[in-house]
Amino acid sequence: MIAEVIVDISTSEIDKIFDYIAPPELNVSVGDRVKVPFGRQFTEGFVVCLKETSDCKHPLKPIRSKLDRFTAILPEMIELMHRMCREYNLRLVDVLRLFVPAMMRGGRVKEITRHFVTLSDGVTFETALSSLKPNAVNQRAVLSVLSGGGEWAAILGEQYGFSAIAALAEKGLVTVSEVTKRRKPNVKAVADKAVTLNDEQTAAVNAILNGDKDVNLLFGVTGSGKTEIYLSCIEQMLSAGKTAIMLVPEISLTPQMMGRFRARFGDKVAVLHSGLSDGERYDEWLRLLRGEAVIAIGARSAVFAPLKNVGIIIIDEEHDSSYVSENNPRYVTSEVAEMRRAYNGAKLVLGSATPALETFKRARDGEIGLITLRNRVGGVKMPEVKVVDMCLELRSGNNGILSSELVDRLDATLKEGNQSMIFLNRRGFASFMICKKCGKVMKCDDCDVSLTWHKEDNLLKCHYCGRPYVVPDKCPACGESDMRLGRVGTERVIEEIKRRFPAARTLRMDRDTTRKKGSYDEILSAFRMGEADILVGTQMIVKGHDFPNVTLVGILDADMSLYYEDYHSAERTFQLVTQMSGRAGRADKEGVVVLQTYSPRHYVFAYARVNDYEGFYKKEINIRDVTGFPPFTKIVRVLTTSEDEERALGLTKEMLAKVRAYQKEHPDRFVAVAGMKSPVKKIENKYRYQIIMRLTREKEADTLLAVYDIVNEQDKKNASVFVEINPQNMN
Ligand code: ADP
Ligand code: ZN
Repeated sequence: MIAEVIVDISTSEIDKIFDYIAPPELNVSVGDRVKVPFGRQFTEGFVVCLKETSDCKHPLKPIRSKLDRFTAILPEMIELMHRMCREYNLRLVDVLRLFVPAMMRGGRVKEITRHFVTLSDGVTFETALSSLKPNAVNQRAVLSVLSGGGEWAAILGEQYGFSAIAALAEKGLVTVSEVTKRRKPNVKAVADKAVTLNDEQTAAVNAILNGDKDVNLLFGVTGSGKTEIYLSCIEQMLSAGKTAIMLVPEISLTPQMMGRFRARFGDKVAVLHSGLSDGERYDEWLRLLRGEAVIAIGARSAVFAPLKNVGIIIIDEEHDSSYVSENNPRYVTSEVAEMRRAYNGAKLVLGSATPALETFKRARDGEIGLITLRNRVGGVKMPEVKVVDMCLELRSGNNGILSSELVDRLDATLKEGNQSMIFLNRRGFASFMICKKCGKVMKCDDCDVSLTWHKEDNLLKCHYCGRPYVVPDKCPACGESDMRLGRVGTERVIEEIKRRFPAARTLRMDRDTTRKKGSYDEILSAFRMGEADILVGTQMIVKGHDFPNVTLVGILDADMSLYYEDYHSAERTFQLVTQMSGRAGRADKEGVVVLQTYSPRHYVFAYARVNDYEGFYKKEINIRDVTGFPPFTKIVRVLTTSEDEERALGLTKEMLAKVRAYQKEHPDRFVAVAGMKSPVKKIENKYRYQIIMRLTREKEADTLLAVYDIVNEQDKKNASVFVEINPQNMN
């Protein structure tokens, strides 16, 4: 038998499939990890196919050994690997690595097994004892321990010597078996409320499981009971003998969330997320592979859970940007989920209160089903949203971070003994330019996206068409000379709050305060326990946290995300405001949201204020259509990085020339093509250059393949080139 093996070495030259002899005594199967000779040494590899003959001209070498006691890669995943490689132009081995726990490679993590000793079947204490010599004191002692049940070999051995156990085993009186000791992530079940689904929820479950569409968008505000729907769908799938994958953004994988699943499904749930130790991750993964656990819950990478017979895949908060992997290998979680869904004939659910525009369009076009939940469970009201014009504040003499409206409400909330959350969007710190007086933001004339300041050459540039603009010395709209580059930090907000309310207890949550393992949960639980009055934070505080005492939410500088140099800006801002609003007034208390902006009349806020997603959708989709942005086009970025700047630049120029030649042949397939330095010119000492193109839907799959060909045929020595589709960020 010949085995096709992908060796576990990631370079473009070696990303091929190699033939090896599979010695019959090894009993190799497709999906096994094996040790193979490669060059002058041995390396690990994955068997992806078995066949009778090889076309290879050189004599083949045999596989040396198998690495695991189980087959690590399911047949489904091998097919998935091929599809992902085609779709995203990835290396085979990079995709395979997604399918197994990282530390398993190189044998850096193993199962912990321990030896357990019992009396052999059919042997009683008395018969065993009578067959021993009277002077075999230790063996007798071991038997007497075992007469009361089994014991760990380590404990017996320490006390009576391992030779005693060996001697008894030799005589067949005792049996030593291997028992796996599982490392268990610490997930506490929360009390499972026995809820009876309401009519809307029952109809939703029914539509998901029995409707005519296999893919459904579950569109419902926070608190409308989506999670209960997920739980119920999974329950029914399990009764039908199938398995389930539940995906949640990393940041929403809170103890509460996981606790609800643990409460309902107990040990049938395995969790996969970055907070686990290597051992825990490996053991959870193995439980899934062996079918001991049948529900995988986790962040993005749990879409690769080694489950057979998947019945349902759920992607909660489907619009979340964390579902798009930004590092190599790049993939889009919902697309991978769709591949697995199709393979298994399963159901796919995309849940969100603020679906990605693209997803909502698919639902409106009838490509996928649309299930709408109109109400919050128990009739909890959405909070009132107050939009504060920060230009007016400025004119009336307040040039601080907090508007007088927000200060007054903070004061009142403190006096009532309720809690407040203040959100600051630091993601928006890419420096756009805004007029302090009239709020005008510098934008590209051609693309309708805000310009980004490039410090090095002191120019404003459009990240979509590459067009440069001179930095204005005064506002082109009103003549004000105070144009600023926006950026405030959470620390400054805390300072300001302390100055105004010295007695208020504050907590800060951002990348700096959550570096230590567990600190994220600690801050959240401290706030939940009422140890602070005001929580100030970035993106991290936005999602899925249910704090019943929060009645005030402040959103500072909502424009920051609005004028981020990204065509998603309006969409992101809408999602953010809606989700932040969802944090106020969850239980019996009504909430208020104070939203500070320099563009109070922007349509995003008009729709977000009244929670009108569909109104926003209609407006925004129209803009995308007119300006030629996704989902009406595809943005493709070819990113070249190298420690040698000349090399990165040269390679980019060569590829750009080829793309332009192709564009000449097919002008109808492109909206724009541009080559430029990346906004962040150097990361980790590697220079970055990029080609950005916008493709029309006209034969877009062919165009994409042509781009892949251009990239693949290039000699990429001393450089890396990656192709990204609709990148989430353009740094
Ligand atoms: P979402 O996931 O849409 O935010 P959840 O499923 O978490 O909504 O529901 C919000 C709250 O309402 C939860 O505390 C949940 O237990 C409760 N809930 C959901 N459905 C019902 C129901 N049918 N009856 C009673 N309580 C419910
Ligand atoms: Zn101005």
